[in-house]
Parts: sequence; structure tokens; C-alpha cells
Amino acid sequence: MNQATLPTRVLPRSSVQFVDLQRQYRELKTEIDAAVESVFSCAGFILGTEVAAFEEEFAAYCGVRHCVGVGSGLDALILTLKGLGVGAGDEVILPGNTFIATALAVTHTGATPVLVDHDPQNYTMHPGSLATAISGRSKAVIPVHLYGQAADMDAINAIAAEHGLMVVEDAAQAHGATYDQRRCGSLGRAAAFSFYPGKNLGGAGDGGAVVTDDDELAAWLRKMRNYGSGHKHHHELAGRNTRLDALQAAVLRVKLCHLDRWNELRRHTAEHYQVRLAELPIALPVTAAKRTHAYHLYVIRCGGRDELLSYLDQRGVSAGIHYPVPIHQQPAYRRRCMVPRPLRYTQEYAEQIISLPMHPHMTSEDVEYVVQCLGEFPGDLSLKENCSSIGTR
Ligand SMILES: *Cc1c(COP(=O)(O)O)cnc(C)c1O
Repeated sequence: MNQATLPTRVLPRSSVQFVDLQRQYRELKTEIDAAVESVFSCAGFILGTEVAAFEEEFAAYCGVRHCVGVGSGLDALILTLKGLGVGAGDEVILPGNTFIATALAVTHTGATPVLVDHDPQNYTMHPGSLATAISGRSKAVIPVHLYGQAADMDAINAIAAEHGLMVVEDAAQAHGATYDQRRCGSLGRAAAFSFYPGKNLGGAGDGGAVVTDDDELAAWLRKMRNYGSGHKHHHELAGRNTRLDALQAAVLRVKLCHLDRWNELRRHTAEHYQVRLAELPIALPVTAAKRTHAYHLYVIRCGGRDELLSYLDQRGVSAGIHYPVPIHQQPAYRRRCMVPRPLRYTQEYAEQIISLPMHPHMTSEDVEYVVQCLGEFPGDLSLKENCSSIGTR
């Protein structure tokens, strides 16, 4: 581009990344380079010892017997649902505020996604909404541990048990988060993880895994991800090709050793935000009882959200919205999902939520700069909500 055509935007005094995978690589360069080199040296690119070792380590980390590595978090969800027998004619209940993949997984089995609202405090599936959405066709429920915080699993498991529903956790944002001292991934029949690079545990490309204590499901998944084959050239199932690759497994094994410390750093950053933002008229994240939050995202709610987002962008702070358009309002889901009751909080919050920069390599100067920008925002941040309705249904 010619010099004269460059935009004349004033360079921000400072900038803060939303996630910073370059800083992460600098921290672990020696270990990661060695892990990658070892895969190339033995040319074991597909399955093999790295994948098996990662699966064993990640299952142990989650506190379950099996981990089966697959190509993505979406495939982990799809194959888990299919392996549990979910298909055409069934309904699967999930929250309306989640990443699209949770709903797509249901759609790809042929079942119908049924959307419910979330708790107004912690943004995860509201057990009362789940209870009212159950029909004779309901087969499974997918609680999403959204933003890194476990859903209300005691209540959800109790309702599911009462109605004979299978519980599949979407743990794609909750590596290392706990509920009642147990890790996300060990709280239902099976759980799906994503290792997309920006997740709390992320690879150098796409990847995912299913973790479970269900021996039969795990055995089915091991074949299904690998052309339906248990041993070479024998195909018992009409399988897929969706394996976690060895390079990803090698990278993930290195990073798994740092996950708990990184999550601790995320919580430290969250506390820093919490203290410094306490004076503003905005809603800060709340950690519900029995949980340790893994802060995949640090989501606040405020008025003037869109203006704030562009103001932060001008000041070099990259923020995001998770998620701006609820599932039932996505073009892909017109007439393809069911919404038994209005999704009041899902709808209302979609215009108020904003995710501030959050990653383990943020410095306290980074946090202070974000806080300073929020404080200097010229608009009105106060939430125009009907306070009397919050927390009641
Ligand atoms: C990232 C994510 C997924 C999908 O994982 P991919 O690896 O990107 O397919 C599913 N559910 C939630 C809640 C996610 O955040």
C-alpha cells in the first residue's frame, strides 16, 4: 500500500490483546520446539504414542477413565451424541447463549435443538428453564460451562435423572474449572473439549476430545474417529476421519503441565479487574457456589455496549462479544430449533455483554490500561435494566 493511502488514525498509546498466543509461545518456546521436533524425528504424525500419552494424561487430569482425541470440539460433540444414540426424532436441550457449535452438533445428528434460558447471575443453563422444556422426545441435555464456569450440575443432573435424559457437558471453555472439587468433564455421562488455539488449553490448530467413564462409548469413539476401524483394514462401523493429530497432542502435552498455573493467573487477573471496576455502574462476573472459575472469558454487562466496544478498539484494547446473536436468531436456525419459552435473559443480555481482554500472560499494566480506558469512556455505562426482575423468574 502506498504511504498516502494509509489511514490517518492516531496510534493508540498502548494496546492490549484479547488473547496473546505469541507471549504464550515465547514462554514455552524451548519445550514446544522440542516436542514438535520429536514428532518429526520419528515421523509419527497419525495417532501413535503422543496421542495415546496425551489421552491418558488428560483423562487423569479430568478425573475420568477415558479420553478420545478427535479433530475438533464440534466433532467431539457430534460423535458423543451419536455414540449415545441421539438421532432423528429426538430433542436435545441446550442454552440459547452458547457458541453455535453446541447447536450444530445436535443438528448434525438429525435431532432438534431445544433452547432454554440461562441463570441471570452466572450465565449458565437455568435448571428451572431446563425442567419446563422437557417433552416426551427429550433425549439429552447439554449444559455448557460458559465463559469457564461450571453450570449448576447438581440441579441439572437431578432433573436429567428424573426424566431419563443423558447429560453431555460442553466443556470447550472450561479446561480445569471445577464444580464441587471435581473437574468439568467428569460431571456428566461424557464431555466434549475443544483445543482451538485460543481456549484455556489450546493446540497449534484445531483439535478436540471426548472424556468419559463410559467404556462402551469410548471404544465406539476410538473406532468411529478412525474410519470405523479397530484394527487396520477391518471396518466395523461406517466411520469418519477425525483424529487428534500427533503434532497437536505433543503441543497439548507440554501445555497441559501449565494449565493449572495459567488458570490461576487468569483468576488473579479477574480479581484485579474486580477490584478496579467495582466503582463503575456495570455488572461484573460472579462465581457461583461450589465452583472455581477458569475465566476463559471475562464478561461484563453495561449500557452503551456497542459504543464502548468501538471506543476500546480506538484505544487499542481488543474486546469481544460472546455472543451477539442468540442461536435462535441465527439464519441457520430459522425453523430448525425449538424455543418453548421466551429466552428473556439470553435476549436482554445479548445487547449488554462485552468480553474484556483475558489471558494468562496479561501484565498488571495491561489490566490497568483496560481499566483506565473504561474509566475514561465518555458515554453512559449504566445498565438500564429492571432491577426488581433480576434473580426472579
Ligand atoms: C469452541 C467451542 C466449541 C467448538 O470447538 P471447536 O474446536 O472450535 O469445534 C463448542 N462449544 C463451545 C462452548 C465453544 O466455546
